Amino acid sequence: MRRIYMDHNATTPIRPEVLETLLPFYQEKFANPSSVHSEGQETRVAVEEAREKVASLLGAKPREIVFTGCGTESDNMAIRGVLATNEGKGHHIVTTAIEHPAVLETCKSVETQGVDVTYVAVGRSGVVDPDDVAKAIRDDTVLVSVMHGNNESGCVQPIAEIGRIAAEGGVIFHTDAVQSTGKIPIDVNEMNTDLLALSGHKLNAPKGIGALYIREGTPMDALIYGGHQERNRRSGTENVAGIVALGRACELARQEMEEGPARLKRLRNRLEEGLQERIPEVEINGDRERCLPGTLNMSFRAVGGEPLLINLDLAGVAVSTGSACASGNTEPSHVLKAMGLPKDLMEGSLRFSLGWGNTEEDVDYVIEVLPGIVSRLRAISGKWNEEKVSA
Ligand code: PLP
Repeated sequence: MRRIYMDHNATTPIRPEVLETLLPFYQEKFANPSSVHSEGQETRVAVEEAREKVASLLGAKPREIVFTGCGTESDNMAIRGVLATNEGKGHHIVTTAIEHPAVLETCKSVETQGVDVTYVAVGRSGVVDPDDVAKAIRDDTVLVSVMHGNNESGCVQPIAEIGRIAAEGGVIFHTDAVQSTGKIPIDVNEMNTDLLALSGHKLNAPKGIGALYIREGTPMDALIYGGHQERNRRSGTENVAGIVALGRACELARQEMEEGPARLKRLRNRLEEGLQERIPEVEINGDRERCLPGTLNMSFRAVGGEPLLINLDLAGVAVSTGSACASGNTEPSHVLKAMGLPKDLMEGSLRFSLGWGNTEEDVDYVIEVLPGIVSRLRAISGKWNEEKVSA
């Protein structure tokens, strides 16, 4: 059966161009980049070239990039690293209710150690109001952490403005750009960010590689101590193949920044319009004008997201009901909850996340099969007037 993958916010396939670049580093180019011999020097050069490519996608300097094991590690490092250097100076963090668990759970964990955290709320638009961040900053605030693109709603937050507010308050600003990197333009200077987390597997590089941008001069303690790699900021022998792959993926994203996102946006809009035309009583979640190009979060009244997901899966389409990290968990999405969606819309939500391999045919197939699935499920749900469904 034909399979269509529309869950790119959970993870993406490795692009052939990326795979081609990384394979030699699992084969003949296996040397430790800290080794002095020629083989070691060759892998060192590859690591530093990749660093330049990552930096270039972000408008950063290569020495401001630290390679990590994943986006979660980058977020943990940003939050814990800033707190550690600020010991005794302040212990308040401002973040938002819609962050990924990589930030939220880290905040919860530091709360148990006496750190105060303010979780700024959002409204139905899913967009953080910079004024709310400004109001939450206190004299003892040491860090503001607000994500760039939301993994569930796709909403892109007004990061530049929030970064400016943090800077005016003399507070370090971190943004989780795991979902936005490679999908929309990023410039750490325009965004006024001191720390920025990204992850390889969200932009067609492998799992197990991430990076943290650390603006020069930002006081940061390491999370992991050992052999002094990454200028002593993240010890451990480098994941050379992963780093090289991330560099190549960033290079491709930069080269394709005009056409790639525009194509995804067209596909997303085609899907949204097609489903809206054919299925009554649907709602788009989040401000669609501020949406990541490939993300469509939609609620279907009087039908559960789980049965929709399962039926779509049986029809060959892979989507998600919330963030993959929360799946298997029947709790409603914390993001949609924070946006104040009523229970039935929260329960009936699906997230389509389009990516590099998707085509118009994929979109048209979903538009063809989903109305029938919704109609059938509504008919058996008992919550829906059948005449309305067949209209
Ligand atoms: N932040 C956001 C916004 C994410 O969507 C994810 C993954 O879904 C992460 C952080 C964690 O990244 P990783 O899977 O590389 O640990």
